[in-house]
Amino acid sequence: MKLILLGAPGAGKGTQAEKISEKLSIPVISTGNIIRESMKNGTEMGSKAKSYVDAGKLVPDEVVIGIIRERLANKDCENGFILDGFPRTIPQAEALDNMGIEIDTVLSIDVEDEKIVARMSGRRVCLDCGATYHLEYKKSKVEGICDFCGKELVLRKDDAPETVLDRLHVYHEQTEPLKEFYAAKGKLRTVKGCEEVKDTTAATFAALEI
Ligand code: ADP
Ligand code: ZN
Repeated sequence: MKLILLGAPGAGKGTQAEKISEKLSIPVISTGNIIRESMKNGTEMGSKAKSYVDAGKLVPDEVVIGIIRERLANKDCENGFILDGFPRTIPQAEALDNMGIEIDTVLSIDVEDEKIVARMSGRRVCLDCGATYHLEYKKSKVEGICDFCGKELVLRKDDAPETVLDRLHVYHEQTEPLKEFYAAKGKLRTVKGCEEVKDTTAATFAALEI
């Protein structure tokens, strides 16, 4: 299954992507995680991306398209994959088409803007491995500490309330038109993001018939 997850920042794409990944044994490809990893490692791509990411803007299309092209060529993508955070613009979606990749389904997780803003303030990320948590909805076993690597959990710089509003604006302007793009191809399915992760997961599995 070749799947795209669409949704506003903080809609819960990453969380549901992990659930689908476990169920179907296919990898999650998160451009956000790949970019943050390069920023942490100070690679050339990372330093190019940093100013955009910190300001809540999109990284230029050609940069992310390059990342995805390389990543999808990996052997672990042979039996399918879940794209989380890509495509985010129409040109990115067209680039995917041009790579000859036939997407099976696009799942949009819809959550109202007001809920997003409230949620993001509770989101925490591991400084070291990039695992994400939420103070209310996805707690770590020990508060403030990553379950996987024991490192500190922090608020992502781009999750600060001012930046979240900018990112929502970018989402409505540039990413939301992808719903129409994929609906026109008959590929779009939609679920409503729920308060509880497990309810969203149930709705997600039902929508995907898995
Ligand atoms: P979110 O929590 O908003 O889903 P991500 O972790 O997916 O955030 O992405 C964080 C940031 O990384 C974005 O705000 C953007 O700057 C950059 N980014 C990630 N994916 C893309 C993409 N496909 N195109 C452009 N920029 C991207
Ligand atoms: Zn960690």
